[in-house]
Amino acid sequence: MSGTTTDPGGAVHPVGAAPSGTAGTAGAPTGGDPLAALRAAAKARTEARAASKAAHAARRTENARPKRSAEELRAIVERGQAELHGRGTPGALDSDHPEATAEQVVAWAVREFGDAIAVACSMADAVLPHVVAQQAPWVDVLFLETGYHFPETSGTRDAVEQQMEVTIVDVLPQLTVAQQDAAHGKDLWSRDPAACCAMRKVEPLTRTLGEYEVWVTGVRRDEAPTRTNTPLVTWDEKNGLVKINPLAAWSFDDLLGYAADHQVILNPLLNDGYPSIGCAPCTRRVAPGEDPRAGRWAGLDKTECGLHV
Ligand code: SF4
Repeated sequence: MSGTTTDPGGAVHPVGAAPSGTAGTAGAPTGGDPLAALRAAAKARTEARAASKAAHAARRTENARPKRSAEELRAIVERGQAELHGRGTPGALDSDHPEATAEQVVAWAVREFGDAIAVACSMADAVLPHVVAQQAPWVDVLFLETGYHFPETSGTRDAVEQQMEVTIVDVLPQLTVAQQDAAHGKDLWSRDPAACCAMRKVEPLTRTLGEYEVWVTGVRRDEAPTRTNTPLVTWDEKNGLVKINPLAAWSFDDLLGYAADHQVILNPLLNDGYPSIGCAPCTRRVAPGEDPRAGRWAGLDKTECGLHV
Protein backbone atom coordinates (compact mmCIF):
# COMPACT_ATOMS: atom_id res chain seq x y z
CA MET A 1 0.00 0.00 0.00
CA SER A 2 1.48 3.33 -1.01
CA GLY A 3 1.94 5.87 1.79
CA THR A 4 1.57 3.34 4.55
CA THR A 5 3.71 1.53 7.06
CA THR A 6 3.20 -1.95 8.42
CA ASP A 7 3.67 -2.60 12.10
CA PRO A 8 5.17 -5.83 13.48
CA GLY A 9 1.66 -7.23 13.91
CA GLY A 10 0.95 -6.83 10.20
CA ALA A 11 -1.50 -3.91 10.44
CA VAL A 12 -1.16 -1.15 7.89
CA HIS A 13 -1.54 2.51 8.66
CA PRO A 14 -0.61 5.66 6.79
CA VAL A 15 2.90 6.98 7.05
CA GLY A 16 3.15 9.60 9.78
CA ALA A 17 0.15 8.24 11.66
CA ALA A 18 0.67 9.07 15.29
CA PRO A 19 -0.76 6.68 17.85
CA SER A 20 -3.89 8.34 19.14
CA GLY A 21 -3.94 9.45 22.72
CA THR A 22 -0.17 9.52 23.10
CA ALA A 23 1.73 12.16 24.97
CA GLY A 24 4.49 14.41 23.72
CA THR A 25 8.19 13.80 24.20
CA ALA A 26 9.51 12.98 27.60
CA GLY A 27 11.88 15.83 28.18
CA ALA A 28 14.12 13.58 30.25
CA PRO A 29 17.88 14.20 30.04
CA THR A 30 19.44 11.81 27.52
CA GLY A 31 23.01 13.03 27.36
CA GLY A 32 22.72 13.66 23.61
CA ASP A 33 22.11 9.99 22.79
CA PRO A 34 19.38 9.96 20.12
CA LEU A 35 18.41 6.37 20.91
CA ALA A 36 18.09 7.20 24.58
CA ALA A 37 15.86 10.16 23.65
CA LEU A 38 13.63 7.89 21.58
CA ARG A 39 13.44 5.34 24.40
CA ALA A 40 12.57 8.05 26.91
CA ALA A 41 9.86 9.42 24.64
CA ALA A 42 8.41 5.94 24.11
CA LYS A 43 8.46 5.28 27.85
CA ALA A 44 6.70 8.58 28.52
CA ARG A 45 4.00 7.74 25.95
CA THR A 46 3.47 4.31 27.46
CA GLU A 47 3.18 5.77 30.95
CA ALA A 48 0.78 8.49 29.81
CA ARG A 49 -1.44 5.90 28.11
CA ALA A 50 -1.44 3.67 31.17
CA ALA A 51 -2.32 6.63 33.44
CA SER A 52 -5.13 7.76 31.13
CA LYS A 53 -6.55 4.25 30.90
CA ALA A 54 -6.37 3.74 34.68
CA ALA A 55 -8.09 7.08 35.33
CA HIS A 56 -10.86 6.14 32.93
CA ALA A 57 -11.31 2.72 34.57
CA ALA A 58 -11.49 4.34 38.01
CA ARG A 59 -14.08 6.87 36.86
CA ARG A 60 -16.12 4.14 35.26
CA THR A 61 -16.09 2.06 38.44
CA GLU A 62 -17.14 5.12 40.41
CA ASN A 63 -20.04 5.83 38.04
CA ALA A 64 -21.17 2.21 37.70
CA ARG A 65 -24.88 1.59 38.29
CA PRO A 66 -27.19 -1.39 37.83
CA LYS A 67 -28.40 -2.12 34.32
CA ARG A 68 -31.75 -0.46 33.66
CA SER A 69 -34.86 -2.50 32.88
CA ALA A 70 -35.93 -3.44 29.36
CA GLU A 71 -38.84 -0.98 29.64
CA GLU A 72 -36.52 1.87 30.57
CA LEU A 73 -34.12 1.01 27.75
CA ARG A 74 -36.95 0.72 25.23
CA ALA A 75 -38.08 4.22 26.21
CA ILE A 76 -34.55 5.47 25.48
CA VAL A 77 -34.71 3.82 22.06
CA GLU A 78 -37.97 5.65 21.30
CA ARG A 79 -36.42 8.96 22.34
CA GLY A 80 -33.36 8.25 20.24
CA GLN A 81 -35.35 7.34 17.15
CA ALA A 82 -37.40 10.52 17.45
CA GLU A 83 -34.24 12.58 17.82
CA LEU A 84 -31.92 10.88 15.35
CA HIS A 85 -33.94 9.24 12.60
CA GLY A 86 -34.87 11.46 9.69
CA ARG A 87 -38.35 11.40 8.25
CA GLY A 88 -39.05 8.71 5.67
CA THR A 89 -37.41 5.32 5.49
CA PRO A 90 -33.73 4.47 5.24
CA GLY A 91 -32.69 4.95 1.65
CA ALA A 92 -35.65 7.28 0.91
CA LEU A 93 -35.27 9.96 3.54
CA ASP A 94 -36.84 13.39 3.40
CA SER A 95 -33.94 15.74 2.52
CA ASP A 96 -35.45 18.49 4.69
CA HIS A 97 -35.34 16.15 7.68
CA PRO A 98 -32.21 14.04 7.28
CA GLU A 99 -31.11 11.49 9.81
CA ALA A 100 -28.29 12.22 12.25
CA THR A 101 -24.62 11.86 11.34
CA ALA A 102 -22.46 9.15 12.85
CA GLU A 103 -20.92 11.68 15.23
CA GLN A 104 -24.37 12.89 16.35
CA VAL A 105 -25.46 9.31 17.00
CA VAL A 106 -22.38 8.68 19.14
CA ALA A 107 -22.90 11.96 21.02
CA TRP A 108 -26.45 10.87 21.80
CA ALA A 109 -25.23 7.46 22.99
CA VAL A 110 -22.64 9.03 25.29
CA ARG A 111 -25.30 11.36 26.75
CA GLU A 112 -27.67 8.46 27.38
CA PHE A 113 -25.24 5.74 28.47
CA GLY A 114 -22.03 7.44 29.60
CA ASP A 115 -18.96 5.43 28.73
CA ALA A 116 -20.41 1.97 29.51
CA ILE A 117 -20.76 1.26 25.80
CA ALA A 118 -19.72 -1.88 23.93
CA VAL A 119 -18.37 -1.44 20.42
CA ALA A 120 -18.31 -4.57 18.25
CA CYS A 121 -15.33 -4.77 15.92
CA SER A 122 -14.28 -7.51 13.51
CA MET A 123 -10.91 -5.81 12.98
CA ALA A 124 -11.47 -5.43 9.27
CA ASP A 125 -10.77 -1.80 10.12
CA ALA A 126 -10.72 0.41 13.19
CA VAL A 127 -13.07 3.09 11.89
CA LEU A 128 -15.98 2.40 14.22
CA PRO A 129 -13.78 2.27 17.36
CA HIS A 130 -12.17 5.51 16.21
CA VAL A 131 -15.52 7.26 15.65
CA VAL A 132 -16.76 6.23 19.10
CA ALA A 133 -13.48 6.79 20.98
CA GLN A 134 -13.41 10.43 19.83
CA GLN A 135 -16.24 11.03 22.29
CA ALA A 136 -15.80 8.04 24.64
CA PRO A 137 -12.08 7.44 25.19
CA TRP A 138 -11.12 3.93 26.34
CA VAL A 139 -14.50 2.59 25.31
CA ASP A 140 -14.78 -1.22 25.37
CA VAL A 141 -14.18 -2.77 21.94
CA LEU A 142 -15.42 -6.34 21.75
CA PHE A 143 -13.39 -8.65 19.52
CA LEU A 144 -14.84 -12.11 18.87
CA GLU A 145 -11.76 -14.27 19.29
CA THR A 146 -13.05 -17.31 17.39
CA GLY A 147 -9.63 -18.93 17.08
CA TYR A 148 -9.98 -18.95 13.29
CA HIS A 149 -8.81 -15.46 12.35
CA PHE A 150 -6.35 -14.53 9.61
CA PRO A 151 -2.94 -13.49 11.03
CA GLU A 152 -3.59 -10.05 9.54
CA THR A 153 -6.77 -9.70 11.59
CA SER A 154 -5.00 -10.67 14.80
CA GLY A 155 -2.24 -8.19 13.92
CA THR A 156 -4.83 -5.46 13.38
CA ARG A 157 -6.38 -6.24 16.77
CA ASP A 158 -2.97 -5.91 18.43
CA ALA A 159 -2.19 -2.65 16.63
CA VAL A 160 -5.55 -1.17 17.67
CA GLU A 161 -4.88 -2.12 21.28
CA GLN A 162 -1.39 -0.62 21.20
CA GLN A 163 -2.17 2.58 19.33
CA MET A 164 -5.72 3.68 20.02
CA GLU A 165 -7.53 4.96 23.11
CA VAL A 166 -9.77 1.92 23.37
CA THR A 167 -10.03 -1.09 25.69
CA ILE A 168 -9.96 -4.37 23.78
CA VAL A 169 -12.19 -7.07 25.26
CA ASP A 170 -11.49 -10.51 23.77
CA VAL A 171 -14.79 -12.39 23.68
CA LEU A 172 -14.01 -16.10 23.95
CA PRO A 173 -16.11 -19.17 23.10
CA GLN A 174 -16.72 -21.79 25.79
CA LEU A 175 -14.55 -24.29 23.88
CA THR A 176 -11.13 -23.84 22.34
CA VAL A 177 -10.81 -24.95 18.72
CA ALA A 178 -9.15 -28.19 19.90
CA GLN A 179 -11.96 -28.85 22.39
CA GLN A 180 -14.58 -28.17 19.72
CA ASP A 181 -12.79 -30.54 17.31
CA ALA A 182 -12.79 -33.23 20.00
CA ALA A 183 -16.45 -32.73 20.89
CA HIS A 184 -17.96 -32.13 17.45
CA GLY A 185 -15.40 -33.44 14.96
CA LYS A 186 -12.64 -31.59 13.17
CA ASP A 187 -13.50 -28.54 11.06
CA LEU A 188 -17.12 -28.18 12.09
CA TRP A 189 -17.20 -25.00 9.99
CA SER A 190 -16.99 -27.13 6.82
CA ARG A 191 -19.96 -29.33 7.76
CA ASP A 192 -22.20 -27.13 9.89
CA PRO A 193 -21.11 -23.47 9.82
CA ALA A 194 -24.32 -22.37 11.55
CA ALA A 195 -23.47 -24.51 14.59
CA CYS A 196 -19.86 -23.31 14.52
CA CYS A 197 -20.93 -19.64 14.37
CA ALA A 198 -23.47 -20.24 17.14
CA MET A 199 -20.76 -21.59 19.46
CA ARG A 200 -17.88 -19.32 18.49
CA LYS A 201 -19.67 -16.04 17.82
CA VAL A 202 -23.31 -15.79 18.82
CA GLU A 203 -23.27 -17.40 22.28
CA PRO A 204 -20.08 -15.61 23.43
CA LEU A 205 -21.36 -12.25 22.22
CA THR A 206 -24.80 -12.69 23.78
CA ARG A 207 -23.17 -13.69 27.07
CA THR A 208 -20.89 -10.65 27.01
CA LEU A 209 -23.58 -8.17 25.95
CA GLY A 210 -25.59 -9.12 29.02
CA GLU A 211 -23.32 -6.77 30.99
CA TYR A 212 -24.12 -3.73 28.85
CA GLU A 213 -27.10 -1.47 28.13
CA VAL A 214 -26.00 -0.63 24.60
CA TRP A 215 -23.82 -1.95 21.85
CA VAL A 216 -22.55 -0.23 18.75
CA THR A 217 -22.04 -1.99 15.44
CA GLY A 218 -20.50 -1.04 12.11
CA VAL A 219 -23.38 -2.49 10.06
CA ARG A 220 -23.98 -0.52 6.85
CA ARG A 221 -27.05 -0.60 4.63
CA ASP A 222 -24.97 -1.03 1.49
CA GLU A 223 -23.34 -4.25 2.68
CA ALA A 224 -26.12 -6.70 1.83
CA PRO A 225 -29.81 -6.84 0.91
CA THR A 226 -30.47 -8.12 4.43
CA ARG A 227 -29.09 -4.84 5.82
CA THR A 228 -30.91 -2.33 3.59
CA ASN A 229 -33.26 -1.10 6.33
CA THR A 230 -30.73 -0.92 9.16
CA PRO A 231 -31.86 1.82 11.59
CA LEU A 232 -29.53 4.13 13.50
CA VAL A 233 -31.05 3.13 16.84
CA THR A 234 -33.10 0.06 17.63
CA TRP A 235 -34.06 -2.37 20.38
CA ASP A 236 -32.14 -5.65 20.16
CA GLU A 237 -34.78 -8.11 21.23
CA LYS A 238 -32.51 -11.15 21.06
CA ASN A 239 -29.85 -9.72 23.35
CA GLY A 240 -32.05 -7.44 25.47
CA LEU A 241 -30.23 -4.15 25.01
CA VAL A 242 -30.08 -1.06 22.81
CA LYS A 243 -28.27 -1.41 19.49
CA ILE A 244 -26.94 1.54 17.53
CA ASN A 245 -25.53 1.56 14.01
CA PRO A 246 -23.90 4.97 13.52
CA LEU A 247 -22.38 4.06 10.13
CA ALA A 248 -25.64 2.67 8.70
CA ALA A 249 -25.83 5.30 5.95
CA TRP A 250 -22.15 5.10 4.99
CA SER A 251 -20.82 3.50 1.82
CA PHE A 252 -17.60 1.48 1.66
CA ASP A 253 -15.96 4.54 0.07
CA ASP A 254 -17.16 6.69 3.00
CA LEU A 255 -15.45 4.22 5.32
CA LEU A 256 -12.18 4.29 3.41
CA GLY A 257 -12.37 8.10 3.17
CA TYR A 258 -12.76 8.41 6.94
CA ALA A 259 -9.85 6.01 7.48
CA ALA A 260 -7.62 8.07 5.19
CA ASP A 261 -8.67 11.42 6.70
CA HIS A 262 -8.10 10.24 10.26
CA GLN A 263 -5.18 7.86 9.67
CA VAL A 264 -7.14 4.93 11.03
CA ILE A 265 -5.66 1.43 11.13
CA LEU A 266 -6.88 -0.86 8.35
CA ASN A 267 -6.58 -4.62 8.04
CA PRO A 268 -4.15 -5.16 5.11
CA LEU A 269 -6.53 -7.77 3.66
CA LEU A 270 -8.93 -4.95 2.71
CA ASN A 271 -6.46 -3.97 0.00
CA ASP A 272 -5.89 -7.58 -1.00
CA GLY A 273 -9.32 -8.52 -2.33
CA TYR A 274 -11.20 -8.97 0.94
CA PRO A 275 -13.79 -6.15 1.33
CA SER A 276 -15.51 -8.24 4.01
CA ILE A 277 -13.34 -10.17 6.46
CA GLY A 278 -14.46 -13.00 8.71
CA CYS A 279 -12.83 -16.21 9.89
CA ALA A 280 -10.13 -17.51 7.55
CA PRO A 281 -11.77 -20.85 6.65
CA CYS A 282 -15.04 -19.10 5.71
CA THR A 283 -13.73 -16.08 3.80
CA ARG A 284 -12.33 -15.93 0.27
CA ARG A 285 -11.23 -13.10 -1.98
CA VAL A 286 -13.89 -11.50 -4.18
CA ALA A 287 -13.42 -10.53 -7.80
CA PRO A 288 -13.73 -6.87 -8.90
CA GLY A 289 -17.42 -6.00 -9.25
CA GLU A 290 -18.54 -8.98 -7.19
CA ASP A 291 -20.80 -8.48 -4.16
CA PRO A 292 -18.50 -7.40 -1.29
CA ARG A 293 -19.87 -10.16 0.94
CA ALA A 294 -19.70 -12.85 -1.78
CA GLY A 295 -16.53 -14.14 -0.18
CA ARG A 296 -18.24 -14.99 3.11
CA TRP A 297 -19.35 -18.65 3.34
CA ALA A 298 -18.97 -18.83 -0.46
CA GLY A 299 -20.98 -21.61 -2.07
CA LEU A 300 -23.34 -21.91 0.88
CA ASP A 301 -26.79 -20.41 1.55
CA LYS A 302 -25.38 -18.80 4.66
CA THR A 303 -24.85 -15.01 4.40
CA GLU A 304 -24.88 -13.91 8.06
CA CYS A 305 -23.17 -15.32 11.14
CA GLY A 306 -26.28 -14.66 13.23
CA LEU A 307 -25.02 -11.60 15.11
CA HIS A 308 -27.20 -9.11 13.26
CA VAL A 309 -30.35 -11.08 12.49
S1 SF4 B 1 -17.18 -17.89 10.39
FE1 SF4 B 1 -16.65 -20.05 10.01
S2 SF4 B 1 -14.96 -20.56 11.42
FE2 SF4 B 1 -15.89 -18.60 12.09
S3 SF4 B 1 -17.32 -19.17 13.67
FE3 SF4 B 1 -18.49 -19.09 11.73
S4 SF4 B 1 -18.38 -21.16 10.80
FE4 SF4 B 1 -16.86 -21.05 12.48
